[in-house]
Amino acid sequence: MSRPAKIYVDLDALKANYKLAQTLAPNSSTIAVVKADAYGHGSVEISKALQSSVEMFAVSCLEEALTLRQAGIEKPILLLEGCFSADEIPIASEHNCQIVIHNQEQIEALENAAIHRPMPVWLKIDTGMHRLGFAPEALQRVYSQLQRCQQVSNIVLMSHFSHADDLASTSAQRQINMFEQCLDTIHTKDIPISLANSAAILARPNSHGDWNRAGIMLYGLSPFLEPQKYADKLQAVMSFESSIIAVRWINAGESVGYGDTWTAKRRSLIATIAVGYGDGYPRTAKSGTPVLVNHQRVCLVGRVSMDLISVDVTDLKEAKVGDHVELWGKNLSANEVAKWAGTIGYELVTRMPKRAQRLIKS
Ligand SMILES: *Cc1c(COP(=O)(O)O)cnc(C)c1O
Repeated sequence: MSRPAKIYVDLDALKANYKLAQTLAPNSSTIAVVKADAYGHGSVEISKALQSSVEMFAVSCLEEALTLRQAGIEKPILLLEGCFSADEIPIASEHNCQIVIHNQEQIEALENAAIHRPMPVWLKIDTGMHRLGFAPEALQRVYSQLQRCQQVSNIVLMSHFSHADDLASTSAQRQINMFEQCLDTIHTKDIPISLANSAAILARPNSHGDWNRAGIMLYGLSPFLEPQKYADKLQAVMSFESSIIAVRWINAGESVGYGDTWTAKRRSLIATIAVGYGDGYPRTAKSGTPVLVNHQRVCLVGRVSMDLISVDVTDLKEAKVGDHVELWGKNLSANEVAKWAGTIGYELVTRMPKRAQRLIKS
């Protein structure tokens, strides 16, 4: 007995996707990015499933790292935005975290930090994203400041792509070139480097570094809008499912849902499904968004409400109360639904509320 809207998390698919990332970049070590509760999949379960294969995890803040530590995850954890205040540094150090350094304030806080042993830092260079990181012109100064800093054990040089998802764009290559110039600036080829996110792991082998940072691909979603050879092998980890709880015939000219945004053009069989924006189905999904009923595609009709959606099942041979519904998952990509809702798969899976029960399949 429970509300039929459920989220299934397939850990075998997760492991296969991780393996693909590692196979595509055999000379790199693939960091598993599990920020934002592992993109909505549950960071503890995801990290436990991967901990025997990965060398390092990455999250976006200390709180996320501590959640993993409390669950017994022991591998090093990279804080992708570093510490937000000086008091976080000793805690990060104590818990075997590595920190990104992206601004001068963070360097000064680190120089003044009372920590028991020096810690690894990831020096972030802004090669074009213009969000976080030091300008290439500042690199030499910042690098030598960190080299002199007692609190630093070793330095990884990193940057982040702004357009890696756009296969036709030349901007990622420009960022790679700029990153290489940065390496020249500090006169060393020995420093470990990290550039690639999922899109670059899949499609830009020349961006692979000592460390690659795999996020979305682990969860089986392609970062690309178009088909891509390797991305198309990814297996969806999250399946969002529910079932039909009512069916009714309506006449041509009658409407469905709040605000009458969809009106039947013919006599139509309408199925109502127990899922809505309260469960994480996007309210912005338009009439026409695909939904799978008994593995067959039908269209969303009318507005998404908090607890319910309706679909047009007139053309199905059969549709009845209790029938299985897939909102997204193995047979319908969250990316496709996202397009109908004016967003991307990343957002849909990450912003799932707690309401729908999450069940692990392994
Ligand atoms: C989130 C994040 C990643 C992972 O990106 P994906 O596109 O999900 O692979 C990598 N690097 C940084 C700095 C990030 O913030």
